[in-house]
Amino acid sequence: MVERAGGRGTKVRAGDGTSAHARPRSQGAVSKTASPDKKTIALVYDFDGTLSPRPMQEYAFLPKLGIEPKEFWAECTRVSKAERADALITYMHLLYKKAKEKGVRIDRADLVAQGKKVELYPGVEAWFDQMHAYVKKRGAEAGITVKHYLVSSGLTEIIEGTKIFPHFANVFASEYWFDAYDLPFPKRVISDTGKTQFLFRINKGIEDLGLSINAHMPEDERPIPFSNFIYFGDGDTDVPSMALLKKNGGHAIAVHDPGESEAKCVELFKAGRCDFYAGADYRKGSDLFKRTCLLLDRIIADVRVREEARGLG
Ligand SMILES: [Mg+2]
Repeated sequence: MVERAGGRGTKVRAGDGTSAHARPRSQGAVSKTASPDKKTIALVYDFDGTLSPRPMQEYAFLPKLGIEPKEFWAECTRVSKAERADALITYMHLLYKKAKEKGVRIDRADLVAQGKKVELYPGVEAWFDQMHAYVKKRGAEAGITVKHYLVSSGLTEIIEGTKIFPHFANVFASEYWFDAYDLPFPKRVISDTGKTQFLFRINKGIEDLGLSINAHMPEDERPIPFSNFIYFGDGDTDVPSMALLKKNGGHAIAVHDPGESEAKCVELFKAGRCDFYAGADYRKGSDLFKRTCLLLDRIIADVRVREEARGLG
């Protein structure tokens, strides 16, 4: 399958009231990270290949159309190269063009329902609460807490239907406009480099997408310093995010399918893109669990050191 052209890293966001969950606290919400105390830790995840083994469209959308995923992603790559079109816009367009050709109507509610079929790596469901518990144990007395964020090129709608959706403080993903055109039209497309905008939004506490992110904000006014971030990703599409964090004192962990080659992770590690890499096994006691806790320990210690030094001199 094609790594970029609509493959890994492309998600859609569904749910127009038909979702089992409340609407994400994300889009359009006023920032929930208003406190500038710098005691919040942000764990930021890619989705496809990081929390889930395969691109989310492969679990229900493509099977519903009777299309072989490999062929679909290959066509996305071919078309986007031939047309010199953005790979993500191409995949979002082709998905619905194919559905129309086959006479299959898939609305927002259908996409949300598809989220239930998305498979997650072992331990993912319990992971979020376990991270809260770990940070509480080590850092609660210093007032340190943790938040989970998802930044994905995939579809908001499908993510909204997954069991883990309620664990995220915010979800930033690609999304369709369902009523403006005959075929659903991309409302928001989140590219590899575009992902970094959302890291800045979390960093500056400006999560409302209606507000500009570009105004200058001095470092000491930013509620979640980059040094409090850990980013989880699985490949080249995560390089801009990992690079931004590593250059700004943040942290990153690369993951790979536990049953598959770790070569990509080794490459990222050697290039200094990540602090660690591990199989995508989120269960307690796994390498990923232990290495994440090590980084949390370091972040918690750094927050405490800053607190202790504050006001001295
Ligand atoms: Mg990915």
